[in-house]
Amino acid sequence: MNLILMGLPGAGKGTQAEEIIDKYSIPHISTGDMFREAMANGTELGKKAKSFMDQGNLVPDDITNGIVKERLAQSDTKDGFLLDGFPRTLDQAQALDEILADLNKKLDAVIEIDVKPDVLIDRLAGRFICRTCGATYHKTFNPPKVEGTCDRCGGHDFYQREDDKPEAVKNRLDVNIKNSQPILAYYQAQNLLHKVDGDRDIQDVFTDVKKIIGA
Ligand code: ADP
Ligand code: AMP
Repeated sequence: MNLILMGLPGAGKGTQAEEIIDKYSIPHISTGDMFREAMANGTELGKKAKSFMDQGNLVPDDITNGIVKERLAQSDTKDGFLLDGFPRTLDQAQALDEILADLNKKLDAVIEIDVKPDVLIDRLAGRFICRTCGATYHKTFNPPKVEGTCDRCGGHDFYQREDDKPEAVKNRLDVNIKNSQPILAYYQAQNLLHKVDGDRDIQDVFTDVKKIIGA
């Protein structure tokens, strides 16, 4: 099952991805996670990505397409993959088609998690992440079961993303709103697009996601 999860920042892609990979055992390929890991490791890629990410801008297409091409060529994608946060421009969507054609793969579905921008501002402001395993929480909407302890790994060290601070959030939303429409139209024209109402309880959203994947 070769899937793309789309949605504006804060729509719940990472949260749904955690559920999907648990149930379907396919690798979760998040370009945002890949850039953050490169930044944490101080690599050349991380240094290049940092200036764009800190301001809520997109990392240039040539860099982003390159890391996705390398990642999709790895053998763990043979039974499927879940792309999260890629493509974010029409150029990336077209590059993905070429990458997949070279690998003899094709997309099965594009799932758009639809949430209105005013809801997203609160979601991003309250998001925090486990430093040990990357699990995502929200201080009000999705706190850990035991305060201060990660449900998934038992870790106690959490952080807020730099780009979730208010200065970067508005620009991120503007940039993503502007770029997402042409991509959604591109996949709609190929009958691959499935829209899910993401402004509901996490498990209700996942129920709809499972119906799409199951079909
Ligand atoms: P994305 O990966 O699309 O940027 P996340 O999955 O990180 O979004 O979710 C953004 C924030 O919203 C997180 O704090 C997460 O816990 C919370 N969240 C995710 N899904 C929902 C939901 N259905 N209802 C309320 N809060 C949610
Ligand atoms: P995310 O974790 O998906 O919210 O992404 C965090 C940031 O990483 C974005 O605001 C961009 O700066 C960068 N990024 C992630 N995915 C892409 C992409 N497909 N194209 C360009 N930049 C990206």
